[in-house]
Amino acid sequence: MKHGPSSESATPTVTGFSPGFAALGLEAPLLTTLETLGYEEPTPIQREAIPPLLAGRDLLGQAATGTGKTAAFALPMLQRISHAAKGRPSALVLVPTRELAIQVGEAMQRYGKELRTSVLPVYGGQAIGPQLHALKRGVDVIVATPGRALDHIRRGTLKLQEVKIAVLDEADEMLDMGFADDLEAILAGTPKTKQTALFSATMPPRIRAIAHRHLQNPIEITIAKEPVKAGTAPRVQQTAYIAARPYRAAALARVLDVAGANAVLIFCRTRLEVDDVTAMLAGRGHRAEAIHGGMSQSQRDRVMQAFKAGQTELLVATDVAARGLDIPQVSHVINYDLPSSAEVYVHRIGRTGRAGREGTAITILDPREQRLLRTIEQHTKARVAVLPIPSVADLRAKQLGRIQGAVEQVLRDGQLETFMPLVDRLSAHPPAAVAAAALKLLIRAQGGEREEQEIPAMPVRQPELGRPIRDTRHSGGRLHGGSARAERPPTGRTRHGGREAGMARVYVGAGREVGIRPSDLVGAIANEAKVHSNVIGAIEIEERFSIVDVPASMVSGIIEVLSRARIKGRKVSVRIFRE
Ligand code: AMP
Repeated sequence: MKHGPSSESATPTVTGFSPGFAALGLEAPLLTTLETLGYEEPTPIQREAIPPLLAGRDLLGQAATGTGKTAAFALPMLQRISHAAKGRPSALVLVPTRELAIQVGEAMQRYGKELRTSVLPVYGGQAIGPQLHALKRGVDVIVATPGRALDHIRRGTLKLQEVKIAVLDEADEMLDMGFADDLEAILAGTPKTKQTALFSATMPPRIRAIAHRHLQNPIEITIAKEPVKAGTAPRVQQTAYIAARPYRAAALARVLDVAGANAVLIFCRTRLEVDDVTAMLAGRGHRAEAIHGGMSQSQRDRVMQAFKAGQTELLVATDVAARGLDIPQVSHVINYDLPSSAEVYVHRIGRTGRAGREGTAITILDPREQRLLRTIEQHTKARVAVLPIPSVADLRAKQLGRIQGAVEQVLRDGQLETFMPLVDRLSAHPPAAVAAAALKLLIRAQGGEREEQEIPAMPVRQPELGRPIRDTRHSGGRLHGGSARAERPPTGRTRHGGREAGMARVYVGAGREVGIRPSDLVGAIANEAKVHSNVIGAIEIEERFSIVDVPASMVSGIIEVLSRARIKGRKVSVRIFRE
């Protein structure tokens, strides 16, 4: 069931929910896009940032990934440049990593679809030819890493004289990666009259200094600063599992299978996700139903009745849809997406653990959202335990344990007379074999024979409450995968906390001597082995070699393809690394 906008109506009117995005000043084409994407209401940072950005103000925003900050700057930017001349870069977004350039580029492309805005991600490690070609054809928005942007500026292939809006995204990471001078050089080539927004997860003095130099009378926004009022955070057992995007749905399915829960509320951010997740779960044999703002009142009533009557075991909802509902006690709340603020998180998990009963809240977390989880912990004053995703063996053990318990219960309850004639008819076979065959049928009926894939373990950032996460982790020369894949001079071989569970180490016979950077290794592994760069863990670059942590389940495949590939144009020896 998809709930797109009706073609005549540009504003989202179907649901009667808050005017949301329209009230922020966004115009029809963007509202249509948001409706199609299934966004029901703005997140806190969007509510605060969009109006001043639309009014042309400079902005200094402190917000982590997962708060919805990309749309917070992208939507007003797209609206403002929609009237500018097409084809010359009128907006520039600078981001620290290749991965983010791709991600933000894709997001902007999606948001700008109705406006026909062309967006080009520009990052190192990618062949320069296609980038030159695209730049020549003309683009409206450039999303670039600073190094490659500067490359193009120096070649004369990227001209920034027409830039109306510049955004520095994840500015603290860009500085950590040594891009300070590049940023200055890039901004120096843009018009003084442009609008500038700077986002950073932390606000140390060096970020303030950049803001002071480049922003004029900025409006300042800080998200998730307000602690949740004492006593409002419910007492619920809280856990989280980290899964890279491609494994998110599999992780949800695994967590549900292991939990064996039957009254579960699953929260997603968008209507589209609600529909996708519901379809995925139904496909696995769960009795799952969707509820979101794109449905009519009578559809929603029917879904709620089925859930209350126990006919549906999993209810998949957006925040807006769940808000007005009288939802009965559920055993588990699952956040398929980390909500965009601590308040929404508390509201969601408050649906379980009511009336003194035990409740469990489980969050499936993107590796990049770990910082936001820590912020939520700080504001709810409760720990969220990050656990490894159960393996296929864990799942099988759990299923067998559950079946054993159920069989023992039936034996205790007795009243098996009806089945005895059938047992007699099977008496030609050994009783143990008959019992095993019956169990096999039972397991099959419960989907227990389904092929399951292992879900790669992801690096877990240690909580460092009250401190920016990266400060100490990277000081020992270990460079971490995911968001903070920085290159800086290693100062030794010390490691903090050792290798993460489920990770193996790959030795690559090329290092600083030949100019290897973390992005070269990430690029080679992600492109050649066709794995998502999120699954790559810590990277260590030494003079003559490098070591990369990868999920143990993928190590042999990665070694095989890397041995055949070229890194920085050369063949290198690749093998498993042992201390
Ligand atoms: P970001 O913090 O920009 O990385 O966004 C995190 C995720 O939230 C992305 O997957 C967005 O698609 C999603 N998102 C952003 N804004 C909204 C919204 N208002 N409603 C639902 N999902 C959103």
